[in-house]
Amino acid sequence: MKDTFKHKGMRQQLVNVLKTKGITNENVLRAIGKIPRHLFMDSGFLDHAYQDKAFPIAADQTISQPYTVAFQTELLQVEKGDKVLEIGTGSGYQTAVLCELGAKVYSIERQQELFKKTSQFLPKLGYRAKKLIFGDGYKGLVEEAPYKGIIVTAGAPFVPKPLLAQLEIGGRLVIPVGDQVQTMTLFVRKGIKSFEKTEFGEFRFVPLLEDKN
Ligand code: SAH
Repeated sequence: MKDTFKHKGMRQQLVNVLKTKGITNENVLRAIGKIPRHLFMDSGFLDHAYQDKAFPIAADQTISQPYTVAFQTELLQVEKGDKVLEIGTGSGYQTAVLCELGAKVYSIERQQELFKKTSQFLPKLGYRAKKLIFGDGYKGLVEEAPYKGIIVTAGAPFVPKPLLAQLEIGGRLVIPVGDQVQTMTLFVRKGIKSFEKTEFGEFRFVPLLEDKN
């Protein structure tokens, strides 16, 4: 587990690329500049770790593209101490970004292999989520609700009702919605029954799986 000056230099270049693509939140850029993304990937992909691209990880899943991570995190508007629920822990990279921003992170993964691997890996880098859970993200995590932010990192065919219900008033749900292609969608909870919905551009995610492996 090595992080070298070369890696740091490549990370800075990645941060500059994200800036040119429109990411402005300084805290998000700082987190991406700090986190050793290459350590979240299998060794064969080390040379690609700081390109702005998604890459395969275990169990046929992907580590999201840095721009996507930055874009979603920016929409979430995380502040220190905020309780945030992540659906789709995967490699743990997005989890680490949320930890860097000072969020209290709860994250759910439904692939056992990834859940185990990432549960062991994140603490080694010093990232301590409040809870990593092996389970089904469609249900959210009602025991710890409500959340200031909920971020879904897989493509959802529809918006799961429990996720909206587990937002606090003023809370934000960032979720890519769609089958083949997803529209990044933000829901802000305005009241018990009212949500403000805003749609952003199109993204491509691996599917949020329900009742199957
Ligand atoms: N945040 C991750 C992205 C991983 S890709 C990262 O930065 O690496 C999406 C992840 O969502 C995969 O790991 C996949 O196994 C997981 N996933 C798919 N359906 C899920 C569900 N219903 N509940 C929880 N996780 C799910």
